[in-house]
Amino acid sequence: MRLGIKRSTWTTVGAALSSLVLVAGCNGSAASPSPSESTGAAADYTVIATTSVFADLAQLALGDNVVIETIVPAGVDVHTFEPSPADAQKLAGADLIVMNGLGLDEWALSLLEAAGKSEEDVLELAEGIDESNAWVYLEGEEHDEEEGKEEAEEGEEHGHGGSDPHIWLDPKGAAIYVDRIAARVAAELPERAAEIESARDAGLAEIAALDEELRVGFAAVEASARKIVTFHDAFGYFARAYGIEIVGVAVEAPGQEPSAKEIAALIDAIKAAGVTSVFSEAQFPSKVLDQVAAETGATVLENLYSDALGDAPANSYLGAMRANASAILASFK
Ligand SMILES: [Zn+2]
Repeated sequence: MRLGIKRSTWTTVGAALSSLVLVAGCNGSAASPSPSESTGAAADYTVIATTSVFADLAQLALGDNVVIETIVPAGVDVHTFEPSPADAQKLAGADLIVMNGLGLDEWALSLLEAAGKSEEDVLELAEGIDESNAWVYLEGEEHDEEEGKEEAEEGEEHGHGGSDPHIWLDPKGAAIYVDRIAARVAAELPERAAEIESARDAGLAEIAALDEELRVGFAAVEASARKIVTFHDAFGYFARAYGIEIVGVAVEAPGQEPSAKEIAALIDAIKAAGVTSVFSEAQFPSKVLDQVAAETGATVLENLYSDALGDAPANSYLGAMRANASAILASFK
């Protein structure tokens, strides 16, 4: 398994974790059940996902055939999440740990040892996928090879370093994740493989329907009007799927502060593109976006769901994606 640690290292995360051990017991909330936790599920196999999004994709993949839990609660930022000893305790109960990889949730790896787990217990959903090859996975043979390469290079220019982790924001990426989760668990639970296969097929059908619905919705808007500005650089795959131009972002990744020069460049780009609204994201209040809006006359629209699910109807992957699409489509008018 390739576990590419991009933004954090074992030593710094380990140090942060050991300092957290001193406050063990102070965090009572981490053990509370997540909304996606299945009741009535077979209690003998537990999948623990790093985020609410991946827990819900696991639900789509597996139905009620296993117990599914989450580490980072809905509405909390995964990029800057700091795991607690209670999280290590929780992971100890996992038969399978589901994470994204590509720098999004590498802190999960630092918990393995404390949880008595190994890399064998981890399913890295984005394994082997990055911006240089994602089109092969997302679009199959229909995609033009040269175009894919150009897009990958363009992505690197924007500073992803070829590793934008938000692959699930293209429903075809979510379908890959669902497939991978189902295949892994079915292999570990052959006696439930048939039930898992049928749950997966139903989940994939729902994701395909979502994709088609969004394709039709965005195609109804003139291509030149499909422009968005978001808080962090999460919507590259989504934008590519539906022919949307990302005019700019407030920050590349959460936890960063843009320079005055970067803010000025974003303001210029918004004015030049004639964008009239900018999107905040549910878990990231942004002073930068408020400033940009004030200086461009744009409206700050709440909230896109990127790394975390929210309240109903955005408390599922399908619901969050539909909420995003309808908010973005409304902003084009
Ligand atoms: Zn993100």
